[in-house]
Amino acid sequence: MNDTPLQPEFTATERAVLEPFVTSIDARIFGLRNLPEVVKGALFSRYSRSEKSIRRILLDEFIQQPESGFHQLVAAPTNTTADQIVATKQAEAFYDRVLVGYGDDSVAELGGAHVACEEISNVAAKILEDARIGISPLEKSTRYVSFTTKINGAYRYVREQSIMESTHADAYIAAMDGLFDTYAALLAPTITWVQQQSPRDADTSERAYTSATRAKAFDLLRGLLPMATRTNVGMYGNGRAFEYLMTRAGSHDLAELRGLQTALADALGALIPSFVKRASSPRGAALRAYLADIRQAGKSAAATLQGMDTPQEPGVTLVHAQLDALQRVVTAILYPHADTDYQSVAAHVATLTTTQLASIVTEACGERAVRFHKPGRAFEEAQYTFDIVADIGAYRDLQRHRMLTQERQPYGVELGYTVPPELVVAGLDAPFRSAIEAAIAVTRQIRGDLPDASQYAVPMACHMRWRISLNLREAFHLCELRSTPQGHPSYRRVAQDIYRLLRDIHPELTAAMHFVDLKEYALERLDAEKKLDQKRAARQ
Ligand SMILES: Cc1cc2nc3c(=O)[nH]c(=O)nc-3n(C[C@H](O)[C@H](O)[C@H](O)COP(=O)(O)OP(=O)(O)OC[C@H]3O[C@@H](n4cnc5c(N)ncnc54)[C@H](O)[C@@H]3O)c2cc1C
Repeated sequence: MNDTPLQPEFTATERAVLEPFVTSIDARIFGLRNLPEVVKGALFSRYSRSEKSIRRILLDEFIQQPESGFHQLVAAPTNTTADQIVATKQAEAFYDRVLVGYGDDSVAELGGAHVACEEISNVAAKILEDARIGISPLEKSTRYVSFTTKINGAYRYVREQSIMESTHADAYIAAMDGLFDTYAALLAPTITWVQQQSPRDADTSERAYTSATRAKAFDLLRGLLPMATRTNVGMYGNGRAFEYLMTRAGSHDLAELRGLQTALADALGALIPSFVKRASSPRGAALRAYLADIRQAGKSAAATLQGMDTPQEPGVTLVHAQLDALQRVVTAILYPHADTDYQSVAAHVATLTTTQLASIVTEACGERAVRFHKPGRAFEEAQYTFDIVADIGAYRDLQRHRMLTQERQPYGVELGYTVPPELVVAGLDAPFRSAIEAAIAVTRQIRGDLPDASQYAVPMACHMRWRISLNLREAFHLCELRSTPQGHPSYRRVAQDIYRLLRDIHPELTAAMHFVDLKEYALERLDAEKKLDQKRAARQ
């Protein structure tokens, strides 16, 4: 590509002024740097209504425009973050005018922020992670981190406000402490048992072995952790996604979530105020009320279905699939390469035999050397819905797949719970069961008075029900990623079952899912840890 400028645009003085803020003064493709989010967002928003280049706009309308507060905003060596926040606030009117002038919600996607949410409950973390588009979260793992440490002598779980104000407070504390005491007491014997079952061999380093066996013990015990367990979630996202996330949190029935709206407003207000301010405006209040209304409408419509507590064994049920999925996918494979209308392509596809259709699908999947080689968008034409019952731990892992539509029923205790078979073999299941049973009894007690808050007391070993609607392209990703040997057995089983059901109903469409692993492993993390050793050795 010819990277020469269309015309010599900047004088030597202008070039010197611009240089710190762009990766190139002359290239047509360049990056912005050293600029606050609001400036970058405001700059890009000008693209739609200006024939000037961004570098020219930056110079004329920001750097040389006192109203923009540019020089206070942009960090000089003596300029602290606090100075920047003050400057952002001072220049807010200017940025609001620029941003609002473009009247489009998508402008708020042009600036982003990193936000850390620490010591929140797992109930709250899952609600934050329901966000799909525009937010990338990462959460403290129950597999790599011990949950035995205390803050000021107290285990790390949320003392939920309405429970603590109720007559159930003492019983709640006793049951939650019981779960954490049991987790702490079982950790060392569980590690010892895992190590006895899978002794270290000569080609495994001490580090890899210790990591893999600890991870296995944490995996076996995570069912003891209640949904009240405190966790840390880091999120990177754009302003629009955060605005919606804050609004959803603010509309929630749980006090912790409403508190999070305020806390997020403080954190994001200090970083990208112009992009998230509507969450706290009358427009935000109206959206909060609307979200609460439609949730209530759903609850009322389902009134006759509540309180049934229908038992269901853990497992995966395929509840919806298209009979013509193969034809739809093949039509979509051919469509972008045809020069006739959709109906004509579909009519042609209707004349093909199953063997011919299968052959087109195979060709369209190509040579998949690794699981990252994924077939194209045509595979999004096939849609499926699954009803799933599995332990909460498995749900927590699978929930993070943002391309799916997933909705859960409230966390409860009526669908039973999983005791890892390894704990039974190790003879460590009795204390596990009795701590879970005590938590179940307390959850039932709280549920009578405070159904929403009772979810905090539910241990992650308990089963829950949720639905996953997904397309075939995402099924390739989920089934292959989530059956890799290093995964937790609970979610590997769900991914494997989804694959088996898809394979049975649509063998031609799933023939290229080569990387689904249907085997079982004793020490799931070991190979991953060995690979990590090799990578470390190669780096050194
Ligand atoms: C073995 C294992 C251990 C894990 N451990 C942890 C852990 O300790 N803590 C933790 O928080 N998570 C953990 N995860 C979850 C992981 O971080 C992912 O959130 C989860 O697997 C969803 O996968 P995904 O992002 O690939 O897919 P999806 O969300 O299903 O998205 C599908 C694809 O769409 C694209 N995509 C979707 N959203 C975006 C976006 N915003 N930006 C760019 N591309 C996007 C990506 O290509 C992605 O692969 C673990 C996962 C595995 C398999």
